[in-house]
Order: sequence, then structure tokens, then C-alpha cells
Amino acid sequence: MKSNRVYRIALFDGDGIGPEIMAPTRVLLEDVSKRVGRKFEFDSLPAGAQHFARTGESLPADSMAAARAADAILLSAMGLPDIRKADGTEISPQIDLRFALGLYAGVRPVKLYPGQRTPLGDPRVFETDFVLIRESTEGLFAHKDEGQVVGGQYATETLRITRQTSEKLFDFAFRLARRRSAKRGTPGRVTCIDKANVFRAFWFFRSIFEERAKAFPEIAADSAYVDAFAMWMVQKPWEFDVVVTENMFGDILSDLGAGIMGTLGLAPSADIGDSNAVFQPCHGSAPDIAGKGVANPLAMFLSAAMMLDWLSDEHEDGALAEGAQMIERAVAATLTDSTVLTRDLGGDAGTSEISDAVLRGVAA
Ligand code: ATP
Repeated sequence: MKSNRVYRIALFDGDGIGPEIMAPTRVLLEDVSKRVGRKFEFDSLPAGAQHFARTGESLPADSMAAARAADAILLSAMGLPDIRKADGTEISPQIDLRFALGLYAGVRPVKLYPGQRTPLGDPRVFETDFVLIRESTEGLFAHKDEGQVVGGQYATETLRITRQTSEKLFDFAFRLARRRSAKRGTPGRVTCIDKANVFRAFWFFRSIFEERAKAFPEIAADSAYVDAFAMWMVQKPWEFDVVVTENMFGDILSDLGAGIMGTLGLAPSADIGDSNAVFQPCHGSAPDIAGKGVANPLAMFLSAAMMLDWLSDEHEDGALAEGAQMIERAVAATLTDSTVLTRDLGGDAGTSEISDAVLRGVAA
């Protein structure tokens, strides 16, 4: 039955290195889909900074509608520093998608593969495998277009935490811990990161976390202040399992996670809501290396693997989880082998050479 299922994937090629890393990702997904006996129908949709420069629109209504109707959305990178809106801000349809589709759970795995370059010296760093969940629709970003600079004297921004989104966010975190626990045979744990000792909004956030934890008695639940947790991410990142936090804290901590992984080029992400999900690498459009054929596509490949995993859960289709594992194993093998690596990983290979190495790994 399932083998006839066609999964419709909306693709946003984006700006800068976006199209360069999307092209091999599509090839990889086509290859994997044949191996696991599933079909993908890709729909490339216009959006982004260059599209804005040409048309005055950053995310056309038709692209939005097609993305909403797709089974999943795969996005490379969007935005260019030189192309900005009248108020000086960058074009960021990826953020618009999060709000329009209610993608409250920003999933940012922090995982190290053997041989990966990391600035941390402790050998236990290679045991690091936790998932940071960044709330992605509210927090300090909830009123992001309404901040005010008053009379050149002071500025204000508003941080918003709602019960409804927080409950969904925490339930998502506990369900993820439960799935990871079953998969890895380890006890599950969720840590809430906040600043509940100073801000009422974070006390509220933490109290909802503690309420929801009661519905998942088999998963350990604890909380930590964001400043202490930032230090622990550097000192003992291998101790965490699932970590859940507010939007702005998550924005910062996810880049710290990428720092531990040694490069943004290995950091995948997912933004998940009740009915839609966007998968994209954590890095931006890297205009400094665009067009040179040297971009690292691995974060994009790992984002595509996360997409297959999510589709597998959503549609109870184990073949897609198998496809996700094929990609992850091939990326891990490429890193461990370390003969074909891009410049950010310490090698001198180009995008096409490392993409071919991963394809060979899938076939192995
Ligand atoms: P954004 O604000 O859109 O997230 P950014 O300003 O943080 O973007 P990036 O575009 O992510 O910046 O680039 C940061 C640095 O990392 C640049 O030097 C870029 O070349 C490098 N970089 C980012 N992605 C990759 C990649 N996939 N492969 C190699 N280098 C990359």
C-alpha cells in the first residue's frame, strides 16, 4: 500500500549557496527514495532576497499556498546582506513561514560524529547527542516588528509567552524524549532552559513545563538557568538529552551548538508545527562563498534526513525512517573516512565531490 504513496515536497532553493546545496540534496533524496521504494514529487517554489530584488515580493502568496499544501517543506538558505526591506531588515521568508504555519518547535540537534573537528578538547565531546528545541513563534520574536526606539533615548521590545504554545512545545519535547529513549535504549530526560529567577515570563514558562512533565512520568524533567546552561554546553554537552527553551535563548544556544560541532556546515534543523514542517540547515546563504562550488552540503543532507524521519512518524511509514538512517550513516562515514571534506571541515573538496562521496556511502 505505502509503496504507492507519493510524498509532495516543497523546495525553496533560496539565495547565495542555497541552490548549490539544494541540487545535490535533490539527487540524494531521489536516490534514497528508489532504495526504500517511495516516491517524492518536488515542487521548486520562488522566494527569497533575489526574488524580492526582482519582483518586490519575498514570499509570493502562491509559494506560501503550495508550501502549506505540501507534505513537507525543504528550504536551503535565504537572505542576502545587501538586499533589504525599506526598514533596513533582511529578507527572511524562513521566519515568515514559521509564523504563518505556526511552526512552534525549532528542532536543532547537537551531535558529533567521529572525526568531526570541534573546538572542545575533552574526548567525551564525541558522546554529545542532544536535541535543542527552540520555541519559534513567540518569546522575544513575538512582536519583532513592533520594537520601538523612543525619542532617540530608549528602546523597548516585548517578550511574549503563552500557555497554549508552551504546552504544545513541552508536550513535543517530552514526546521526542520518549521516542529517543525507545530508539536508543536510554532513559529520557527533558531540561527546560529559562531565566525564571529574574523574569516573571520565564517563571510562568517553567511552571507550565513542570505541569506538563507530570503527564510524562517516565521521562526525567529538570530546569536550568540559561547562563549556567551556556557554560555547561561547553563544559559537558554530552550530559543532555532534550533541551527546550524560549525563542531568543534558542537562537543563541543553537549557534553555540553549531560551534561545538565545529562548523555551521554540519548543523541541520527542523521547524515543526501541528500540520506543517520546514527543514533547513542552520547556516545562512553564505554569500562570501556563493558560486564557487565549495559550500558544504552536509547540514542540508542531514536536514533532508530529519525530514524523512518526521514524514516517517507522521505517516507511520518505516521505509522513510530507513531512508533517513541511510543518509545519516553515509554522512557519518564520509566524515569518519575524512578523505573527501570541504574547506570548512578541514579538507579541499568541492560541493560536488563531497556530495558524490555521500552518494557512494548510501550505495555501500
Ligand atoms: P544568517 O544570518 O542568514 O544565518 P550568517 O550571517 O550567520 O547568516 P552564514 O551565511 O551562515 O552567516 O555564514 C557564516 C559563515 O559560515 C560564512 O563565512 C560562510 O561562508 C560559512 N558557511 C555557512 N554555511 C556554510 C556551508 N554550508 N559551507 C561552508 N561554509 C559555510
